[in-house]
Amino acid sequence: MGIVRSVLLAGSESRWLRERAPRYGFVRNAVSRFMPGETVEAALEATRSLGVGTVLTQLGENVRDLEQARGVTRHYLDVLDRVHRGGLDVEVSIKLTQLGLDLSREECEKNLLALIEHARALSNWVWIDMEGTAYTDVTLDIARRVRAGNPNVGVCVQAYLYRTTEDIRSLIALGSGIRLVKGAYREPPDKAFPKKSDVDENYFRLAERLLSGDSRAKHVRAIFGTHDPVLIRRIEELARSSNLPPEALEFQMLFGIRRQEQERIAKAGYRFRVLISYGGAWFPWYMRRLAERPANVLFVVKNLFAR
Ligand SMILES: Cc1cc2nc3c(=O)[nH]c(=O)nc-3n(C[C@H](O)[C@H](O)[C@H](O)COP(=O)(O)OP(=O)(O)OC[C@H]3O[C@@H](n4cnc5c(N)ncnc54)[C@H](O)[C@@H]3O)c2cc1C
Repeated sequence: MGIVRSVLLAGSESRWLRERAPRYGFVRNAVSRFMPGETVEAALEATRSLGVGTVLTQLGENVRDLEQARGVTRHYLDVLDRVHRGGLDVEVSIKLTQLGLDLSREECEKNLLALIEHARALSNWVWIDMEGTAYTDVTLDIARRVRAGNPNVGVCVQAYLYRTTEDIRSLIALGSGIRLVKGAYREPPDKAFPKKSDVDENYFRLAERLLSGDSRAKHVRAIFGTHDPVLIRRIEELARSSNLPPEALEFQMLFGIRRQEQERIAKAGYRFRVLISYGGAWFPWYMRRLAERPANVLFVVKNLFAR
């Protein structure tokens, strides 16, 4: 892992920075490139103007009391109702530590099930984000349990982890929704490929699994969550050579990243969504975005000098 990436990811875990950085206007201005606003209204407005389906996620992780977790659950129930009433093509994606996982697994599962069941009644989906490796086992375990009774749930898996090859096998067998990403956290070399080229190659191997006959026979809803143009081309070619129509592929990208590629993908007939984050607790999430592309730090510095 590069030194700058490593420092930024360490910064994402710093409470001291988390409490101070958001006070500065130039940091907030820089963040607005990746986030249309802190409120759900801003995210819904962005959905309308983008004109494509979106996935909404309220930023926040590791809540410290169960009432907060219940508040987050109520918030997402309300979001599901609002998008249903508004006829918008919007799904939601949540972090289990935001639903109280650190405090009570039982309560967390209860909150998650309330969301999934409500989404199901409204013909909508719930996605489960994947956090750092301290949570991989429990997240997959909960994802498998809730999937057993509900077809409208999917979980994110990270190509940088060695274990994902096995995890994907069991998720495909269950017919679960699967969102494949590279992975955004700081992980040690005994758990994650340290070299980016190995992560990229593993991503492609896992994509092959997700487009395989097995996966299609199980009606797996497979999402490719990446902005990597080389990988996207390879996946497109793989689909073409397997005679899959464009609508058999689903890509998702983050709001504000590689907008031209987003337009190209949407126009090419693939299924496509933009993941929009909102909320006040953006510091660790923003640091992970900086770590993905350390050149983004220059953008923060430019904002410091902009009037
Ligand atoms: C829909 C979606 C959901 C995600 N959910 C999770 C999750 O639950 N858990 C998790 O660990 N990670 C998640 N991620 C983040 C993911 O793990 C990667 O960190 C992130 O997508 C960057 O990797 P990449 O595949 O785009 O490839 P990279 O090789 O990092 O980037 C490819 C190119 O995309 C552009 N790019 C990428 N990131 C940035 C950026 N921050 N700023 C500007 N340009 C950029 C650059 O041009 C870069 O060259 C998610 C990503 C997406 C798109």
